[in-house]
Amino acid sequence: MERQLTEDEIVESVDEAIKNGDIYAVFQPQINHATGRMVGAEALMRWKHPEFGMQYPATFIPVMEAYDLVFRADLHIFEEVCQVQRYCLDNHIPLVPLSFNMSRYDIYRHDYVEKIEEIRKKYDIPVKFLRVEITESSAIGGMEILQMAINRLHEYGYLVEMDDFGSGYSSLNILKDLDVDIIKLDMRFLSGGVGGRGGTIISSIIQMTKWLNTPVIAEGVETSDQADYMESIGCYYVQGYLYFRPIDRDEFILQLKTTDHEPLSPAMNLIRTMDAGKFWDPDSLETLIFSNFVGAAAVMTYRNGKLEILRINKKYIREIGMNMDEKELIGTDPWDSYDETNKALYEATIKKAIRTRDEETCETQRRVCSKSCGDTMIWVRTDLRVIGQAGDEFLIYAMIKNITSEKEQLMAVIDSERKFRYASDQVNIYAWEYIFATKDMRPCFRCMRDLHLPPVVKNYPEPVFENGLFPMDYKESYYELLQNLENGLESADVIIPLTVGRIPFHVRYTTEFDETGKPLKAYGSATLVVDGES
Ligand code: C2E
Ligand code: CA
Ligand code: CA
Repeated sequence: MERQLTEDEIVESVDEAIKNGDIYAVFQPQINHATGRMVGAEALMRWKHPEFGMQYPATFIPVMEAYDLVFRADLHIFEEVCQVQRYCLDNHIPLVPLSFNMSRYDIYRHDYVEKIEEIRKKYDIPVKFLRVEITESSAIGGMEILQMAINRLHEYGYLVEMDDFGSGYSSLNILKDLDVDIIKLDMRFLSGGVGGRGGTIISSIIQMTKWLNTPVIAEGVETSDQADYMESIGCYYVQGYLYFRPIDRDEFILQLKTTDHEPLSPAMNLIRTMDAGKFWDPDSLETLIFSNFVGAAAVMTYRNGKLEILRINKKYIREIGMNMDEKELIGTDPWDSYDETNKALYEATIKKAIRTRDEETCETQRRVCSKSCGDTMIWVRTDLRVIGQAGDEFLIYAMIKNITSEKEQLMAVIDSERKFRYASDQVNIYAWEYIFATKDMRPCFRCMRDLHLPPVVKNYPEPVFENGLFPMDYKESYYELLQNLENGLESADVIIPLTVGRIPFHVRYTTEFDETGKPLKAYGSATLVVDGES
């Protein structure tokens, strides 16, 4: 007859069940969803009662905890974990780190770490193959006690996993305050469906854990949709029915032999110079530096064409002239602000920065949308640098400068020059402009081609007399002409022969004035003197 044991039956038979092997460990592998390789496994307690059949932890663990029996049972599971590792070591089976569960009541025992160590030494297992899972609910007894327990485990070299992370309301604080090595997230968070509110919460937690440099394992992953979603937000490690149900020792050892392994790696390998944990603390020096001293900056992730903003500072928003805040900007797709050409340039620069690991710069045009002014186009110079990597995901630091006015001036010059050249070529004349203030002369394309002039002739007209283009005997009158124009003459009209062959040219000038009536430039043109003209 299959049934669950009563409370009394549990309390009476725990010791015997441990002794005769009715209580034992099963193993659930943890898989990197991106590679299919095994990264570890968790030992879970099972109790197979000879008469009443399989008992599940959800019923007997709380009873064990209530009667102070759970420590003995947990140590028994830990011993079986060590036995599996010993077996693998002795038989040259490649092993993965095994996690075992510690009840929240265990960690309050003074001898808790010593008892674990006793067993580990008995089987002589290197501590790197063992991991301790403690649940977030352990924090109920106070953060200091929990951190002390974690410190003691760290002293002996155990990695500590935060189990059921996200089940408590204080999760984010726990992550910030506790020194855990691995985080386990439960899929119950996704009850709102992939992409729903749950998805957003997980996504922000994962982004935060990246900063803390902590690997994340997603638990209870049942569908490939869930696993794909987790992967898409940078969480590669999954444990759940999608890959494996908890399996018994022999089957697990078989899996160890037939599945490839790989080590668990941090979600992000941050560069050493930046303490990522502090980055999220609004009062930390890092945040102060980011907000006040670094100029307009953003931190983004880039992965397979997808760009996401994680953080921007106030100067960033000011620089691009937006009246949005950081929260509103995060979660929008940065690519929406770019057309195809500018997106391609920006993305090529990101890829270059990934390749070179150096600072790379691009100038792109983007759209900004502000509540008061609607859409405008601006030019932005961006210096990009890779500061972290996790698999094919890159953490990118971007410093920006709004260069719209610089760019617009340049564009105006290019534009006028283009029109100018086009026109002069059409009407078969030579044309140029002369700027009074600088004595620069800018010849048209035909002048450059036929008369071998550079794009800008400095100290005009001195060089054209020096190089013999114009005859020396016209020098004085030509200087006088330019002087008259600079003094306010609106137009002029003279005939000057070229030195070579003395071919006469009709030279005309028109002066351009600024708003105050001050002469700025003179537009010159020269046409061949046709018969009858003189
Ligand atoms: P837990 O540590 O969060 O363990 C994960 C639980 O989720 C396991 O249930 C596992 O069988 C189940 N699970 C794994 N993949 C999936 C999935 O894809 N879908 C669903 N719906 N469930 C999945 P289990 O073995 O019944 O254990 C329940 C809880 O009992 C554990 O939760 C843990 O808190 C506790 N427990 C289990 N073994 C031990 C132990 O040795 N010591 C202590 N102190 N507690 C244990
Ligand atoms: Ca667990
Ligand atoms: Ca869990």
